[in-house]
Amino acid sequence: MSKLPLVIYPDEILKTRCSDVAAIDQDIFDFVTAMAETMYGSNGIGLAAPQVARNIRIMTVDVEQEDGRKALLNLINPVIVEAHGRTTYEEGCLSFPGLSAEIKRRKQIHVQAYNLAGDLVDFDADGLLSICIQHEMDHLNGVTFVDRLNPVQRKLVVRDYLKQRTWDEEDERLDAIRAVHEST
Ligand code: ZN
Repeated sequence: MSKLPLVIYPDEILKTRCSDVAAIDQDIFDFVTAMAETMYGSNGIGLAAPQVARNIRIMTVDVEQEDGRKALLNLINPVIVEAHGRTTYEEGCLSFPGLSAEIKRRKQIHVQAYNLAGDLVDFDADGLLSICIQHEMDHLNGVTFVDRLNPVQRKLVVRDYLKQRTWDEEDERLDAIRAVHEST
């Protein structure tokens, strides 16, 4: 299974609310398998379907990858039915290469979702798992973690992010030009 290309901010796909998965068929099964491969291959702890260009309500999460992928959760049509407490965590996102920001979240959540077998799963989450599921749930609603910052912080963080992206792309472009010159 190959890695899917990641959608990078500020793509419109990341700002679109996702629709429910109507049926867990072979297409969804293959897609979720590819999502998990993409998440592991990108060293991410969570991935939402819009990050690989499909606006449907699916997330893959594994916050304990060192343990040999034992904690992989494939959540289809997930819902946070209860949330308690407050916490803050320095979050990153595969759709924002190089960016991290302190984000306020709920501490504990209760989640309901379908798994790939079509069974309803129901569980409490705390710590990093809770934060990660809330981050991916935002993606399913067309919300990214910078939207959780206050407007002043968001403006600064997004400006720096876009500036850094431009320079990275410029470096790549210059490397490509140099490579052409060196080969002639
Ligand atoms: Zn993200």
